Amino acid sequence: MTLTEKDSQYLWHPYTQHKTSQTPIAISRGEGALLWDENNKEYIDAIASWWVNPFGHSNKIIADAIYKQLTTLEHVLFGGFTHEPAIKVAEELMKILPKNQQKIFFSDNGSTAVEVAIKVALQYFFNKNEKRTTIIAFENAFHGDTFAAMAASGISFYTQAFQGMFIDVVRIPVPIKGQEQASFDALKDVIKNHNCAGFIFEPLVQGAAGMVMYEPESLAKLIQICAANNVLTIADEVMTGFGKTGKTFAMDYVDENPDMICLSKALTGGTIPMAITTFTQDVFDAFYDDDINKALFHGHTFTANPTGCVAALASIDLLQTAEMQSNIERINASHLKFQKKIENHAKVITARTLGVIFAVEIKSEAEESYYGSMRTKLYNFFIDKGVILRPVGNIVYILPPYIMTDEQLQKVYKTIEEAIEMV
Ligand SMILES: *Cc1c(COP(=O)(O)O)cnc(C)c1O
Repeated sequence: MTLTEKDSQYLWHPYTQHKTSQTPIAISRGEGALLWDENNKEYIDAIASWWVNPFGHSNKIIADAIYKQLTTLEHVLFGGFTHEPAIKVAEELMKILPKNQQKIFFSDNGSTAVEVAIKVALQYFFNKNEKRTTIIAFENAFHGDTFAAMAASGISFYTQAFQGMFIDVVRIPVPIKGQEQASFDALKDVIKNHNCAGFIFEPLVQGAAGMVMYEPESLAKLIQICAANNVLTIADEVMTGFGKTGKTFAMDYVDENPDMICLSKALTGGTIPMAITTFTQDVFDAFYDDDINKALFHGHTFTANPTGCVAALASIDLLQTAEMQSNIERINASHLKFQKKIENHAKVITARTLGVIFAVEIKSEAEESYYGSMRTKLYNFFIDKGVILRPVGNIVYILPPYIMTDEQLQKVYKTIEEAIEMV
């Protein structure tokens, strides 16, 4: 049996309708921005394997750090115990996070980072004897697939089986160009009419919605409205964090600071599943009490796994090297050039760039759904050409590892241009 035959016998894949989907491609090896399948066909990983891998596959520096840690202390429980790698991660993050962030809480993935933030927002007010139970979120947001994260997510076909079973979430429009005032007004309205505990948002770029972008000034304004009404703000930087937007965090573009930040994806350079939620001192203090009931009773078995911590440390180091920073600038400049080239194409609705993120919306006759027919056609075309891109409906985006070479990047652009001609 081939690997793919064995796979179909035993495995259940994410976001997959197994009856109608194509068989998965078995990848056996990766290096830099490249992956190879079991038949040795080469692919350019133009989406950094779901946005986790900025420094390239099988990165030697991160691998060495992990190996060393595995043979020193692979894991110890974090309840009642601590260790140097976790403390160092906190120290290093404090140097690069927005200045008001003072405490960090470890978990395992983006969804749990969000889950923790939402629970903290709700318990913050519970601990203060204030009845505030509504969470505000953007339309078309994506915050993960666990229950509270799913409740905050607005992509409805992901969550329709669970409607009516969620925590209270009220949605406001994203302040995209022309819609800013509607977004501000909606937020004020929601705060007036509900007992709001927190507002969660993907800062500047909504990833899963198809790299929808909005301006930092608008986000600053929304945060100001929340702050004036004592509503906690949660920046979900799971996708945007660690350089994707051209700055270390998307919040670095924004003049206001959030109360909490969620981190995962690129945190460990795409090696070990790990996540972090960060907090202000004020948030932490609402749980700091002689009363044990005010504690945050949340934890995961692998909290602050030392191996994940050293992978995070190596990644944070790599991100800050001059080489990596210039890679980010190089890719951004290249994207802007490509954007200029194709944005007036007859089949292009619009194109946009922020940092290493590029997206183009392609004209489509029919209303294009998330997994619609144009999407399938595009996806298969890219795979056939050896480029891994996962369009969202009619939106094709690139989010490359920062070490992607110019030559590889040009091939990705060329393939997208061919795809636009083809559809
Ligand atoms: C991917 C993502 C999540 C969920 O992270 P998982 O690790 O898949 O659970 C949450 N928020 C944002 C913004 C994401 O992009």
